Amino acid sequence: KGSPSEQWQEYQGAPTGTAIECEGWRQEAALRMLNNNLDPEVAERPEELVVYGGTGRAARSWDAYDAICDELRDLGDEETLLVQSGKPVGRFETHERAPRVLIANSNLVGNWDDWEHFHELEAKGLIMYGQMTAGSWAYIGTQGIIQGTYETLAELSTQHYPETEALEGKIVVTGGLGGMGGAQPLAVTMNGGVCIAAEVDEERIDRRLETGYCQEKTDDLDEAIENAQAAAENGEPYSVGVHTNAADMLEAMLERGFVPDVVTDQTSAHDELEGYYPSGYTVEEADQLREEDPETYVEESLETMERHVDGILAMQEEGAIAFEYGNNIRGQVADHRDHESAFDYPGFVPAYIRPLFCRGKGPFRWVALSGDPADIHRTDDAVRELFPEKDHLHRWIDLAQEQVAFQGLPSRVCWLGYQAENDGLTERARFALRINDLVAEGEISAPIVVTRDHLDAGSVASPNRETEAMKDGSDAIADWPILNALLNCAAGADIVSVHDGGGVGIGNALHANNHVVLDGSDLAAEKAKRVFTTDPGMGVIRHADAGYEEALEEARDSNVPVPMEDR
Ligand code: NAD
Repeated sequence: KGSPSEQWQEYQGAPTGTAIECEGWRQEAALRMLNNNLDPEVAERPEELVVYGGTGRAARSWDAYDAICDELRDLGDEETLLVQSGKPVGRFETHERAPRVLIANSNLVGNWDDWEHFHELEAKGLIMYGQMTAGSWAYIGTQGIIQGTYETLAELSTQHYPETEALEGKIVVTGGLGGMGGAQPLAVTMNGGVCIAAEVDEERIDRRLETGYCQEKTDDLDEAIENAQAAAENGEPYSVGVHTNAADMLEAMLERGFVPDVVTDQTSAHDELEGYYPSGYTVEEADQLREEDPETYVEESLETMERHVDGILAMQEEGAIAFEYGNNIRGQVADHRDHESAFDYPGFVPAYIRPLFCRGKGPFRWVALSGDPADIHRTDDAVRELFPEKDHLHRWIDLAQEQVAFQGLPSRVCWLGYQAENDGLTERARFALRINDLVAEGEISAPIVVTRDHLDAGSVASPNRETEAMKDGSDAIADWPILNALLNCAAGADIVSVHDGGGVGIGNALHANNHVVLDGSDLAAEKAKRVFTTDPGMGVIRHADAGYEEALEEARDSNVPVPMEDR
């Protein structure tokens, strides 16, 4: 059969079906999720182990990948594998209820916690950038972020366009059609709006066209604006990828006197060397400059970012609604270009998402390990049956079924929260237990793994993103994601990980993630009930501690103890 990486070359995807290669489904789930991250339908550059988000990797090297696969195939039901920045480094006897895999990626000690030290250590082969879900084997392609983007734009519409609560007749301008950014055009059209997205790399636009995330592409900005305006006037959804640099596009729009209704960006600005492209170069020219003269590359990249932010601010000045969509472009420009007004437009979390976090709501996702789409369709029905009163959720499931193509292992995302009922079950636990029953009853053909983005209610400290402008000023306190990971280990999650730098770059964030494998067993039910209480519960207490009334209310309604609330 050859080594695991030789096998990857051959089948290039996750193993599927109901027969397993590992000793148990928990290890098998880890193996399939790692390989799913590297499925060419899922990952952006799988041959380099790059999954998404600039250089977010699933394993440190192909040797490390081989060793991880071998370890997982051999791992017992009472053992735990340790993965340090994408390389397996140890294996210990633990117990059945303990995690099977523990992962730490990209973490550095405070004084050394920056890209410069990271790149030195990376060059020595000692560390790997895990982004968020890349290094924790929870990435599911652009479908993973689509609901988050959809919800963000829906909340924007509710706040700014109360008459329609949709983007009908509105034009959204953005940049970046990569792994995550590629969800933007579809999320805009799902909300009824029109999207113009700049992307320097034509292949990335083609990929979004092929998978139905974007409708058209052009090199001609006038044509894009004309088509967008015509669609908006008719109230029709429309999306177009413009093959150009985003900073150049915003300036050219302003020169023409064109101001969109909404402006944002999702280029990989968190990484000035390997994520963002400077103006004035084709992709090939810029890639060559990076190789030959990284210092000039970084200088030019940051200069373009500054023009990019200035373009966003100028559009805001002219009446556009502006927000940063989690790539730290404001922080980059403020830190490296001494730009005083870079933060004069808000990040998406304080603007639109924090009220959801206060209730423990976040991007719950689940993956059918069988590879059979019918298993996900059965879970879609289960969501509808379990939450008959949630019209918004039903609309989302309908839209997702119609418009979101599966990539790799079939999966689904749904924002669910704490919101415990009288029986004490949280929304997330109730749903996970239902799936576990369906697996036990044979209505779903193989186990389902439930995981989430690191971007969740109680799992991130990221002062320019998830914890921007916290009510009590606790933005940079990173005890919370550490407590989240420790608590989810105690609760029995099957994989637990802690990363540095996801979304916004090294030194700017600490965050944690977990997986629970629902194989239909009583043990899986026990773990799911606990983890899907502790995990969203962390979101509730983190925001209650910061003084958010919605979180305190959620804690009272759902009986979540907040020890010092009355002192
Ligand atoms: P990616 O690296 O897969 O894609 C980035 C894309 O931007 C690439 O296609 C690249 O060609 C393009 N690009 C770079 N510079 C450009 C420029 N100046 N003009 C036009 N196009 C340019 O990254 P991704 O996975 O799509 O993530 C994008 C960013 O969003 C990252 O910074 C990531 O950390 C962040 N992110 C945000 C969220 C969120 O929830 N808001 C979630 C995940 C990631």
